[in-house]
Amino acid sequence: MRILIIEDEKKTAAFLREGLTEAGFIADVAADGEEGRFRALEMDYDLIILDAMLPRLDGWSIVADIRRSGKSTPVLFLTARGEVQDRVRGLELGADDYLVKPYAFTELLARVRALLRRRAERQPEVLQIADLRLDLLARRAQRGALKLDLAPKEFALLSLLARRQGEVLSRWVIAEQVWDMNFDSDSNVVDVAVRRLRRKVDDPFPVKLIHTVRGMGYVLEARP
Ligand code: CA
Repeated sequence: MRILIIEDEKKTAAFLREGLTEAGFIADVAADGEEGRFRALEMDYDLIILDAMLPRLDGWSIVADIRRSGKSTPVLFLTARGEVQDRVRGLELGADDYLVKPYAFTELLARVRALLRRRAERQPEVLQIADLRLDLLARRAQRGALKLDLAPKEFALLSLLARRQGEVLSRWVIAEQVWDMNFDSDSNVVDVAVRRLRRKVDDPFPVKLIHTVRGMGYVLEARP
């Protein structure tokens, strides 16, 4: 489970990240509104913790942009202000829950877990694209009746592409999401991994699902 913390207060962000990591989550921090919006829109997070007051772009604008983009990532809104109006506005713009600062970390964690449970109930466990079938819980992949023998990173790469089918994913996004790191732009780690994955997922079958979009990245889709 991967959580994005959008919080400009350095100490708070570090404290949250540490606590969430100890609780078993992977947590990324964005320290201003622009970076936060970029990450929230480009990457796949299971949950976003969003501070209301941020430099460059405030939390309300960010949650509005996330929902406008069609993403349903749960958003936990953090507000320092006591005004009911600010919290209501956050919820109206698409936040799923809010906490008023100062809050106890145990309460934040309980709310994070509750939001993730609700999300899990909404999410499909099995993805089907043409004859590709991905069981995300059992971590099994098959095409037609043929089981695909995938290494863990190959499965992670395939499920990222499949969850965002039809969407071109840049090498940068893939590297961040699958390997949890930034590769140099001239690194070909992603290309090598995609090539290896294609050998298993596409080469033996007449219908290809993973496509290269030149200068942009990769997309998984069933093309007629
Ligand atoms: Ca702030």
